[in-house]
Amino acid sequence: MTGASQLDTRLTEALRERGNRVTPQRLAINRALHRLGRHATAEEVLRRVSNRVPGVSLPTVYATLELLDELGLARRVTAGEGPALFDPRTDPHHHAVCRRCGRVEDLDAPVRLDPAVRAARGRGFRAAHAEVTVSGLCARCASKS
Ligand SMILES: [Zn+2]
Ligand SMILES: [Zn+2]
Repeated sequence: MTGASQLDTRLTEALRERGNRVTPQRLAINRALHRLGRHATAEEVLRRVSNRVPGVSLPTVYATLELLDELGLARRVTAGEGPALFDPRTDPHHHAVCRRCGRVEDLDAPVRLDPAVRAARGRGFRAAHAEVTVSGLCARCASKS
């Protein structure tokens, strides 16, 4: 688990490097996602942040989470339908997504994706990262059907 001050330092450095402003809101949103420690929607992060920093809006949370993804401090999960999910885990891993309840689980599997990233670059994409999404029914939904 990364400490709050370490999270603040990493975000501050990343923002300054790009000439972006360091705001209490941005720091609080980054901390909230990492404290939740799991895939979370912008609304879940907002609920955590609004107790501590008043006046934060959902669009601000959303924009900041997108910014964290760009900065490599969080990842936007490719999870099909439903609201966007953000992941505090940034090391390479994959996801299994339940088609019925939307549950998202981390998968640690050694998948080589560089050929896909290279192919995307060959088409002129500025590829950031690639991941595998396994879709189906989670254990709970599967046992009900
Ligand atoms: Zn499910
Ligand atoms: Zn994940």
